[in-house]
Amino acid sequence: MFDSERAFKVKIVQLILGKETQKAIEALSQHYGIVVPQLRVGMPKKYGKKVGCYVSNTKTIHVVNREKLEDPFVILHEFYHHIRTHGGEHLGTEKHANRFAEEFIEAYKTFGKYSFNYIFD
Ligand SMILES: [Zn+2]
Repeated sequence: MFDSERAFKVKIVQLILGKETQKAIEALSQHYGIVVPQLRVGMPKKYGKKVGCYVSNTKTIHVVNREKLEDPFVILHEFYHHIRTHGGEHLGTEKHANRFAEEFIEAYKTFGKYSFNYIFD
């Protein structure tokens, strides 16, 4: 059975790995019916050594460097915080943000690169 939710997750991970993070973010925002967050390379000062963060005031996902723009775990983790802040709600826990990112990456791993290409090319 073709699982469209799984196929969506695979597509998102593939976009991020393929340096099309902006497209991935737009597709995710459309999927969840929320505004598209900003993407910035460079962390705000107070976030120090972290590789990524989400700033709700500016609706911006920050990553520490260009390489992290292609890291599905970091992007999806921070996107989860964006989903959870919609309407000024709580940011959600780190555990849930990690779980959200892992679900996408698991879908990608189990789906397989070659079957993905077949479906989306
Ligand atoms: Zn987090």
